[in-house]
Amino acid sequence: MTWDFSTEPEFEAKLEWMRDFVRDEVYPLEVLDADEAGFMRIVRSLQTEVKRQQLWATHLPPELGGQGYGQVKLGLMHEIEGASVWAPIVFGNQAPDSGNSEILAHFGTPAQKERWLHPLLEGRLRSAFSMTEPDNAGSDPTLLSTAAVLKGNEWVINGHKWFTSNGMIADFLIAMVVTDPDAGPYERASMIIVPADAPGLRKVRNIPTMAGEHERFGYGHAEILYEDVRVPAENLLGKRGAGFLIAQARLGPGRIHHCMRWLGQARRAFDMLCERALQREAFGKKLASHETVQNWIADSAAEMQAARLMTLHAAWIIDTQGAAAARREISLIKFFGAKVLHDVIDRAIQVHGSLGYSADLPLEEMYRHARAARMYDGPDEVHRVSVARQILAGYQAPEGMWPREHVPTRRGAAKLKFAALLEAATTDV
Ligand SMILES: Cc1cc2nc3c(=O)[nH]c(=O)nc-3n(C[C@H](O)[C@H](O)[C@H](O)COP(=O)(O)OP(=O)(O)OC[C@H]3O[C@@H](n4cnc5c(N)ncnc54)[C@H](O)[C@@H]3O)c2cc1C
Repeated sequence: MTWDFSTEPEFEAKLEWMRDFVRDEVYPLEVLDADEAGFMRIVRSLQTEVKRQQLWATHLPPELGGQGYGQVKLGLMHEIEGASVWAPIVFGNQAPDSGNSEILAHFGTPAQKERWLHPLLEGRLRSAFSMTEPDNAGSDPTLLSTAAVLKGNEWVINGHKWFTSNGMIADFLIAMVVTDPDAGPYERASMIIVPADAPGLRKVRNIPTMAGEHERFGYGHAEILYEDVRVPAENLLGKRGAGFLIAQARLGPGRIHHCMRWLGQARRAFDMLCERALQREAFGKKLASHETVQNWIADSAAEMQAARLMTLHAAWIIDTQGAAAARREISLIKFFGAKVLHDVIDRAIQVHGSLGYSADLPLEEMYRHARAARMYDGPDEVHRVSVARQILAGYQAPEGMWPREHVPTRRGAAKLKFAALLEAATTDV
């Protein structure tokens, strides 16, 4: 089967525009000392330009209100956006809004789309996804305990969530809650849309994390208490008991969008690594002339190339066969990409010495963000387990006590197989 990641010249021109725009207009946001009102005025003017270029909310197909680029093209665009933490907001596809808009588009009723999806896509509302709980292992979501009980025509929700990204500033949250405790482990949960001003919803705090600066203006990971929160029955998103199904639909493409953004982050760190290697001198020659540094450059280039091809390949499978067919490839790139991101930034910090460790460069911030990549959307270990299980399903244990490739056994079999010819050869002599 041929793989085709090629894109037409018109699209390449769009990517070129994006590269210039992100470098010239978005990078300066990272270092701008402004209050929220001033900052958002600038962001809104950049968003207007992005909309004019028809590059807004590119993660959704046209029938769902987006531009319909598909995952391969999206991958190439996210790669550019991923270089800066602020670019996804400028381009209207930042997590968790992008994933939430996808599930609202796929599973929402016309009324839910009208009230939540359209304003979300227009950038008038902000959202959060509330699943992880402090008292249960998020790696195993069958342990979820936040419960919703249908009383009359209202859901009454009680529970404790945390790491609800953007929870403090969201206008609505999509909560994953247990609605059917007696059903099978993957049919117990449902998703419910909870307006941020619903009575009983308590936004406790933004949990201080390693991320630091990006959490300004309330972006961050919130602890949320649901205390007899009441929402109308029609706020159920999709079917009752379909929470896991919807979560899969959300997290599959969502995960690969993160992997795409990491490519851009890694590339930016790599560029810094190479430039510093050519600039700084030690022991009578440029750092770039020291073999260890050359190894870092070669290893980083190889790992980034592998991550890029794996990401595009997974994207291509989603485009041609659907997200379910790409489960293995998405898990592979999720843990591999997170490691590549971490290692490239780590080497870039090392080559800069104490300057790399300082906040005078963006590397230390990139490093802090990269650490989280190994946890959100499922820790590395869980993805490795999932990949290994899928691979092992295609194998069988060989019969008997020896491995299939056992040389003495094969030698015996080979002798038997060619016995007649071997016999003839002896006779000929
Ligand atoms: C920056 C950031 C943003 C986040 N945003 C959101 C959000 O918006 N909404 C939301 O609901 N959640 C969010 N999360 C939470 C995230 O999804 C969870 O942290 C993740 O699912 C892991 O759950 P946990 O933290 O409870 O870790 P646990 O489940 O307690 O796991 C701890 C560790 O156990 C190990 N482990 C687990 N399973 C296995 C296994 N099978 N084999 C070997 N080792 C294993 C892993 O090393 C894992 O890191 C976010 C997290 C971060 C860091």
